[in-house]
Amino acid sequence: HTPSSIPLRVEGLRKEFGSITAVDGASFSVEKGSITGLIGPNGAGKSTTFNCITGIHEPTDGTVYFQGEDVTGLSPNRIANHGLVRTFQLARELEEMTVIENMMLAPKGQLGESLWRSVLPLARRGVVEQERKVLERCWEMLEFFEIDHLAEEYAGNLSGGQRKLLELARALLTDPTMLLLDEPFAGVNPSLEGRLLEHIHELREDGYTFLIVEHDMDLIMEHCEHIIVMHQGSVLTEGPPSEVRSNEAVIEAYLGG
Ligand code: ADP
Ligand code: MG
Repeated sequence: HTPSSIPLRVEGLRKEFGSITAVDGASFSVEKGSITGLIGPNGAGKSTTFNCITGIHEPTDGTVYFQGEDVTGLSPNRIANHGLVRTFQLARELEEMTVIENMMLAPKGQLGESLWRSVLPLARRGVVEQERKVLERCWEMLEFFEIDHLAEEYAGNLSGGQRKLLELARALLTDPTMLLLDEPFAGVNPSLEGRLLEHIHELREDGYTFLIVEHDMDLIMEHCEHIIVMHQGSVLTEGPPSEVRSNEAVIEAYLGG
């Protein structure tokens, strides 16, 4: 494999919280244009792995390569600037804003509030022009996810599934090439789950790469072509769903909790 076919590579990742070892030497890679699933029983270290990859936690040891570059320990913003973005649950203050306001804040946050403030007096017209473009893009994104009719609704009033669509729409505004989703289907009703999955497949057709953490094994088996199974902080096995499903160690890990 050339580095360009492997956007994400994690090597010997380790994360300790005091005496707890949450991730214990995990190594894996994700292929370009794939929908890869990261599964494992509760406490396996999935979320911690995610947080280390996306800069929320600084790994105790190990390396995260994105598109061949070492991005270990960079801030979430700098990692996002490389094109590797995770969805975030909407913070409380965002729930008190409308859907369109939430969207408008996403790219601004990425650009950096201070940058916006410094360019404003210098190039007011240019910035206004840029803001208009951002607004247009936000609307297009809401239309793509079929939540444009909710633009003026407070984000706090959205259903679980509508929220997930908004979170994904927000993440896409930062122009990622790869998206990491942590339990994107939790609290989503079946019809919206189907729509969310359709959009993920559509985006993959457009060339985006997905790494999805999910507890629900059946769902992941159906929609991912490659599955990484974590157990007790490291990778137990990986492979296509058919192989993973019948793997004795995987079955045991899930039954053992
Ligand atoms: P998963 O997402 O697979 O359920 P996590 O990554 O959330 O697993 O957790 C892995 C282990 O690390 C668990 O034992 C959990 O209690 C522990 N852990 C996770 N985050 C922290 C933290 N911030 N402080 C202390 N322990 C943590
Ligand atoms: Mg988790």
